[in-house]
Amino acid sequence: MSDDISLTEAERTAGIVRCDACPVLCRIRPGRAGACDRYANEEGRLVRVDPLVLLAKPDIARVAFVEGNGAWRGELGKGESAFVTGIGATTTYPDYKPAPFIVSSRHDGVDMVTVVTEGIFSYCGVKVKIDTDRYLGPEQATIRVDGEAVGHVTTIEYGSQMLSIGGVHHLTGGSKKEGRVTCDVMMALGNKLAVELDIEGGAKILVQAGRAPIINGVEEQRMRVGCGSATIGIFAKQWEGHVDEVVVVDDHITGVLSEHQAGKFLGMRDGGVKVIGRKSTPGRYFQVANPGAGWGGTDITDPLKIIKAIDPKTAWPGERILFVSTTGEDWAYFILDDRLQPQPADMPAVIKKVVDRIGENCEPALCTVLFMGGAGGSLRAGVTENPIALTRSIKDALVQVTCGGAPAYVWPGGGIMVMTDVMKMADQSFGWVPTPAIVAPVEFSMKLADYEQLGGHMDRVQSLEAVLSTAQHKIIDWDVANPWPLVAADVVSDDPVKS
Ligand code: SF4
Repeated sequence: MSDDISLTEAERTAGIVRCDACPVLCRIRPGRAGACDRYANEEGRLVRVDPLVLLAKPDIARVAFVEGNGAWRGELGKGESAFVTGIGATTTYPDYKPAPFIVSSRHDGVDMVTVVTEGIFSYCGVKVKIDTDRYLGPEQATIRVDGEAVGHVTTIEYGSQMLSIGGVHHLTGGSKKEGRVTCDVMMALGNKLAVELDIEGGAKILVQAGRAPIINGVEEQRMRVGCGSATIGIFAKQWEGHVDEVVVVDDHITGVLSEHQAGKFLGMRDGGVKVIGRKSTPGRYFQVANPGAGWGGTDITDPLKIIKAIDPKTAWPGERILFVSTTGEDWAYFILDDRLQPQPADMPAVIKKVVDRIGENCEPALCTVLFMGGAGGSLRAGVTENPIALTRSIKDALVQVTCGGAPAYVWPGGGIMVMTDVMKMADQSFGWVPTPAIVAPVEFSMKLADYEQLGGHMDRVQSLEAVLSTAQHKIIDWDVANPWPLVAADVVSDDPVKS
């Protein structure tokens, strides 16, 4: 029977235990799990349902178990080749309690310590990059799931459309259902599951980290090679002498070869093809059509629709004109007749080869999901009694921040704003609590001496052997594409591309 005095006599008699890992404070009956399914009552004991996850260098992980019986040999106890992640680590609440695991180890002969926890993030979101030209919806449009607002469309970047999902306003500022659905969506995306997003005034997209987006039921194939002007710039030389005019149709910047600087440099004759839209600079046109699911992210399916005029003073009968999209998926070839009207014609192989090369230079379209969370709040109290010391030590590059062992980019400026590619994290790294908030693993690694210096909970430092002998754990291979998480922070670049 539990001796928790916060329980009633009847609850204690019924074998109920209370979970205090988050503000919900579930009372859990025997054999049942709490509201978040992360903790359960196992024969009167509160247990974390999922094991603590350790990363091990693959060669060590393979030899670490005694063959046959799965018993642990203890090689990881040396601490050189294992890393305790926050996945399954449990959460301490209230925050002033030291983090669940503060683990000593050695790396390259240096005494290190890693402070490990499952952080509860009320301030967090996911940024989604969708490689497509296709129109997903107006910027700032609300994104809905199950009818609830969970985020919005943000800026288009080069060949990709960006979405912002989650954030504290959707978690806490709307209805209870809005908060719960938002939390579910963030957790699913973080756990690399597929979610259908409905953009107001735009598309329905099936999004899954590391997979191609499915837009209005059609799987996207290619990320464009560049805008229309860039496509002209890249391939102009390869068209020279084989075609008289090329129009690269693009929702943002449509390119017209003979008028473009690339055509001028090649000494091309003015083709006289005038496209509609707003001229930016010679051979570069904005707004030739409306955005859509047609050629180059426009609503165009017939490229001749963007011709405003063909100038009889400069065009000529027999002029060869290629229209192509920025992915090379759409193309059409015409020759001007005696009345300077474009007539469809068979495209010569030499031109088709360049069209195919546009496609060859497109990368596969993917969805990328970055988790972003603010770790600069109360969570720091589990690391040190003086939280600002942790923030400063991270800024001073003395502390390496990882999420489930994956590299985390820490934003410059105030706070500890971390951003991590969920594809670099183990599957099922994220959980939730009904407050609502996202539960995400976070680890702070540093030299032991630095930890002492920043006022760390030194009396709670334990060896890896102690963790292995007491915690229910699971060891998985470290993803060698990630830097080893114990590398001292002061030798790790803060450049997200390198780290
Ligand atoms: S929601 Fe989960 S973490 Fe929070 S008290 Fe209940 S079981 Fe514990």
